[in-house]
Amino acid sequence: MLLALTGCAALFGAQPSPNTVVEQSPQTIEVTPSATPSAAPGAEPPSGEPLVDHQVIDQEIADAVSVVGQFWATHFAEYYGGTYYSPADFIPYTADDLPGCGGEPVEPDNAFYCIPDNTILWDQNLMDQLYTSGGDAVIYLVIAHEWGHEIQAQLPDAALWTAEELQADCFAGAALYGAAADGTFQWEEGDTAEITNGLTFLADETPWTDIDSHGDPLDRIDAFNDGRVGGTEGCLPVE
Ligand SMILES: [Zn+2]
Repeated sequence: MLLALTGCAALFGAQPSPNTVVEQSPQTIEVTPSATPSAAPGAEPPSGEPLVDHQVIDQEIADAVSVVGQFWATHFAEYYGGTYYSPADFIPYTADDLPGCGGEPVEPDNAFYCIPDNTILWDQNLMDQLYTSGGDAVIYLVIAHEWGHEIQAQLPDAALWTAEELQADCFAGAALYGAAADGTFQWEEGDTAEITNGLTFLADETPWTDIDSHGDPLDRIDAFNDGRVGGTEGCLPVE
């Protein structure tokens, strides 16, 4: 195992003050273009460098943001009532230039939902590696999982699982399969394997024990499947 999304829980632990006003983001969701210039068409990559097309990956990320954002903008109020607030910003970063979350620099090689700023951030190197080794569906998984934390931040405590990371996986399953049911997203052959491999690859080696755990591969697949099968209702706390 090379990578783990270990940082989600740490940042998710930072609760915003109750008086924080979250600005409604504009309807159009843009992902900041990659800071890394893409190779010219037909150019050979320098030897030793990974063959990564940033334009393709950035487009997959932008598509994932659009699909997941549309799902929640359409369905949040149906399930939970009230007004849904989109993330305020989407911030790709590199290890050389770490952005902040609530004034603290984020970790390299990770993806986060930042509660104080209501932003979703990801290391471009992590996304490159996930895309290259895991496939495009893993990009959707990461975006939908981090967006799951953004949903949690808008829910009353009674609607939250103690296992916050697993509930984020559940919301990811609900959003991606819900988007497919809405016709805004289509699964491609091989995506299910990419998702389960991604959840396995990004899981802990031990079963879920406490609030910082992401759970072992079967915990994560179970939680994602709860959302796939039950939709958002499948992500309600079990009595
Ligand atoms: Zn997480």
